[in-house]
Amino acid sequence: MSDDDPIGAAVKLLARLPGVGEKSARRMAYSLLASGPQFAKALGDAVASLPERVRKCSVCGTYTGRETCNICSDPQRTDDILCVVARPWELDALERAGSFRGRYHVLHTLLDPLSGLGPEQFPLDPLLARVESAHTSEVIVATPPTVEGEATALFLAEALRPLGVKLSRIASGVPHGGDLEFVDPITLGRALEGRRGL
Ligand SMILES: [Zn+2]
Repeated sequence: MSDDDPIGAAVKLLARLPGVGEKSARRMAYSLLASGPQFAKALGDAVASLPERVRKCSVCGTYTGRETCNICSDPQRTDDILCVVARPWELDALERAGSFRGRYHVLHTLLDPLSGLGPEQFPLDPLLARVESAHTSEVIVATPPTVEGEATALFLAEALRPLGVKLSRIASGVPHGGDLEFVDPITLGRALEGRRGL
């Protein structure tokens, strides 16, 4: 970091966060200075400890501070339906919709052969093992409605079909190319309820 321009150095780092342009980054840096050293220190510590304190749930793969996340340890939820999402924040978005009572599986990736993630590299085995051991009866594929998301959905459907589970895809209502995270909870809840067979 630059000694003669610590604000510029902080702005550069903050501007690398998603949705933060240089202007917002600059406002953040000045706001941190104005808030006094305690807040800046607390924020810095919270951010720095994230990689150590957060791990992937040993069952579903979402981010959690414990061995097993709240959803996987909740006895009220059914193992019957498994909803597959690409990213932890998509799981959060579906949870905010509030209507789903099944379990989740987080892939942390999408099929993207052009960037080197083809069917061979895809983390398929943990999902197959889970569906088999939990005797899941339905798998909802809630990957985003993008080219990679649709390709992943078809790939998963092919891989899961031999297991004899019902396969469905999150319904339209989610705009093509859209990010599940930014779809409002009501639309997302309806998309989940109006899922169609795959
Ligand atoms: Zn979990």
